[in-house]
Amino acid sequence: MSAKTSNLCLASIETCSVGTLLAKDMHLFRCRNGTKTVALSTIHLLVALSIIFSLSMTTQTSVAATAPYQLACFTADVTIPLNHRCMGVLPTKSRQVVDPLYAHGFVLLGLDLPIVLCAVDWCEIRNGAYDQWRDALAKAAETKRERVLVCSLHQHDAPVTDEVAEKLLSDVGLGGELYDTVFHDHTIDKVVQAIRESLKEPQTVSHIGLGQAIVKDIASNRRVIDSAGTVRYNRGSRSASDPFHRKAPEGEIDPYLKTISFWNRDRPVLAIHCYATHPMSSYGRGLVSSDFVGLARARRQRDDPRVRQIYLSGCSGDVTAGKYNDGSVKHREQLINRLYHAMVEAWDSTDRFPITTVSFRNAKLELPFHPGSHLTEAALRTSLNDNGKSNEERILAAMGLASRLRTAHDQPIDFPCIDFGKAQMVLFPGETFVAYQLLAQKMRPDSFVMSIGYGECWPGYIPSDSNFDEHFEDKWLWVGPGSEQRIRRALETALSPP
Ligand SMILES: [Zn+2]
Repeated sequence: MSAKTSNLCLASIETCSVGTLLAKDMHLFRCRNGTKTVALSTIHLLVALSIIFSLSMTTQTSVAATAPYQLACFTADVTIPLNHRCMGVLPTKSRQVVDPLYAHGFVLLGLDLPIVLCAVDWCEIRNGAYDQWRDALAKAAETKRERVLVCSLHQHDAPVTDEVAEKLLSDVGLGGELYDTVFHDHTIDKVVQAIRESLKEPQTVSHIGLGQAIVKDIASNRRVIDSAGTVRYNRGSRSASDPFHRKAPEGEIDPYLKTISFWNRDRPVLAIHCYATHPMSSYGRGLVSSDFVGLARARRQRDDPRVRQIYLSGCSGDVTAGKYNDGSVKHREQLINRLYHAMVEAWDSTDRFPITTVSFRNAKLELPFHPGSHLTEAALRTSLNDNGKSNEERILAAMGLASRLRTAHDQPIDFPCIDFGKAQMVLFPGETFVAYQLLAQKMRPDSFVMSIGYGECWPGYIPSDSNFDEHFEDKWLWVGPGSEQRIRRALETALSPP
C-alpha cells in the first residue's frame, strides 16, 4: 500500500461510522454523508486500523490533515422589490435599492447530519416564515429543521416576514401589506438553489481560527439616566444629534467583535464575524441597504475574494450606534470603517486549532407571552379588524396574534448550539438584550462563545429581569417577565460541554 493510498484509507475510515458485520470476515463501513460504502476483510481492517493508530500517535498534523469535516459556502441575493414594506411597520416602503441584500451561509458536513447557518440581510423572520426557511434549507442540505440556524442581521430598510400574520392581514383585505409572499417563496428557492450548488464542491476544513478585537466607538446601550435620575431606554440608532445622548456613557455593551474562521490547513476558507449592535446608521426613507455592517462585510470580502465573509448581529436588542451616529453620511462611513478595521484586527489576532470534534445541541425554549391587556387574543383581533386604525397598527396586531396562536399551539423556540470544542456558536431568538450574550460568556469562561441574535424573531425585544424591573416597555415587545429564567435554563443546556 503506497503512502498516498494509506492516507486515503485513513481519511475514509475516519469519516465513517461504526462498521456492521457483513459476513464471517467482512465489515461494511458507511460514510457519515451516507454516500459511500466500503467493504473490508478482517485482515485489511486490522492493517488499516494499525496505520490509523501509528499515524495518530506520531504527528498531530496527520490527524488535522485528515479531519473529516467539509464546508459548503453559499450566497444568494435576497433584495426586496420596490414598493415593499420595510421593518414590518415603516410607513415609507422601498423606493430605491442603494445596495443589495444577501443571504450568506454555510453547510457543515461530516457530522451524522449536516448543520446549516444562514445569515440574512433582513429585519426579521418569524413564526411560520421562519419554519418555511428552515424546512426548505434543511431539505436542500438533507438535514433536520432544528439543525438549520437562520438569523437576520436586522437591517430596518429590509422586510419582516411572518406567514400567519400575512394570512391574517389578507383575510381583512390587507394582503401584501406586511410582505410579498411570492417574492418570499422565490427568495427561499434561490437560497435553496445556492445551497445545492455549493454542495457540489464542498471544501475540507481541518482547523478552526479564533480571533477577537475591541470595536471602538460604535456600540452604546439604549439605557440612559436623565438629569432627574430617571432611567430611560430612548437612545436610538441615530441619537447623536442630541447632545445628551451623545455625551451619556456607552452603558452595558460587549465591546468585542469575535471572528471564527475555518481553514484547510494553512488556507483560510471562511470567516464569520459577530458583533452586538443594531446594524442601522439610517433608515425609514425607503432606501434599501445592508447598511454599515453589510458594507463593512463587502469591503472585507474585497480584500481576498477566496475567503468567504459572513457577518452576524449579536444579542443587541438594547444596543445601537446611537451615541456615535446621527444618521449622516459621514457617520455611516465612520461606522463602516470602524467595523471593517475590527474585522481585520480580529483576523490578525487569530489562533488556529485542529478541529477534532464538532457536536450539536438544541434546547427547547418557551417564553412567557406579554401579559398586557393590549395583547390578549381578543384585543389583538379587535385591532386587526378595526378599519379606523392605521395599516401599521393592524400589521402589529396581526404579528402579535400570529405569535399568540403559535405559543397557544405549544411550539417552543429552538435554541441551537454548534460546539467546536474550543468555541461555541449559540443562536438566540429575537432582539435578545446584550446581558444575555455576556451571561453566555460567563457560563463558559474557558471557551470562545459567539452569541448570535435575531433567530426566531416573534418575541421582539427580550429584556432581562432588571430591564423589566425598570419598566421597559415598547410596542415591539411580545414577551413578559420571567423570560430571563427560561433563557438561563435553555442556555445552560445549549452550552453544556458534551
Ligand atoms: Zn431592533
